[in-house]
Amino acid sequence: MIPPGETIGILGGGQLGRMIALAAANLGYRCHVYAPEPDAIAADVCAASTCADWADSAALERFMAACAVITYEFENVPVAALAGEGRMFPPVRALEVAQDRVHEKRFAEELGGRAAPWAAVDTAADFAAAVARIGMPGIVKTRRDGYDGKGQWRIMDAGAAAAFALPGAGLVYEGFVAFEHEFSVILVRGADGDVRFWDSADNAHRHGILARSTVPAPPAILAQVAEARGLARKVADALGYVGVLTLEFFATADGPVFNEMAPRVHNSGHWTIEGALTSQFENHVRAICGLPLGSTQLAARGVVMDNLIGDDAHDWPAILSDPANHLHLYGKAAVRPGRKMGHVTRLVL
Ligand code: AMP
Repeated sequence: MIPPGETIGILGGGQLGRMIALAAANLGYRCHVYAPEPDAIAADVCAASTCADWADSAALERFMAACAVITYEFENVPVAALAGEGRMFPPVRALEVAQDRVHEKRFAEELGGRAAPWAAVDTAADFAAAVARIGMPGIVKTRRDGYDGKGQWRIMDAGAAAAFALPGAGLVYEGFVAFEHEFSVILVRGADGDVRFWDSADNAHRHGILARSTVPAPPAILAQVAEARGLARKVADALGYVGVLTLEFFATADGPVFNEMAPRVHNSGHWTIEGALTSQFENHVRAICGLPLGSTQLAARGVVMDNLIGDDAHDWPAILSDPANHLHLYGKAAVRPGRKMGHVTRLVL
């Protein structure tokens, strides 16, 4: 058990790290953030910060020595430097699996999950074979480093497939899923194997970026949550997971189709700050520090969370003029199209 007063290390300096640090502060912990960017928004709310490159092993070692336990908010942390670090939660193995779309699909399928038909693609011949087997429409995705729809190309028809120039190797082609809804399963697993789930939100995306999460989800999703939770629990148990884990699914006429996993707190769980008895951020801190987990129960009849993307953030005066809105701004200096600047949550009481 890591008692309050100790220092939690956070790899990555974005809004997820910022909200983990805020929750940790409420429980009396100090946080030390490690991030390569000099203006890391998580560092603004942390007791200490290190600005250094991921490849700077001396800086990384000093950072680890200064922390009682280490977690990460950024999925693309290079794992080589962390291998064998027993104070890292979620475990390094979870990062390894989630960093590569091929590994994560295989992992989920081996545990009985169903993904869209897919094929690894490194060459033009692989691509042609994948399109011939899986059909169109489909999506080419980079195996690594993609997020918020970046590193994705939609292949709608044979003309598009013929014209498509592979951006390199290390890709995956997957069949387009005709889904009714998208939803996520977010769980927290304690060091003792105790697992709790938050309600699953109905996630609406715009341009590949989460726009709105709504709880409770409609019946078409609720009917699929039990099966999806079953897979998420198997993934967590198989990895000896400690912390918050997210799996994203498509709700289809044939049941839940696994899309991807994130070994961390997730944007589709931001509603839990006000909408659940214990937020994903607080339970993540509790889990990695070996504290008892808090209740994941809903704190209201319903919750709606809207992301503030790009220019949406300029609307903060209007958002604040409605006293029912809970505004979260992440303190990012530059507004850019497609950039997550904050979010706003409303409870249905
Ligand atoms: P991802 O980064 O894989 O989560 O993809 C971002 C978004 O693109 C998803 O949330 C979906 O809205 C859409 N998308 C990704 N993969 C597929 C697919 N195989 N079929 C249909 N839509 C997809």
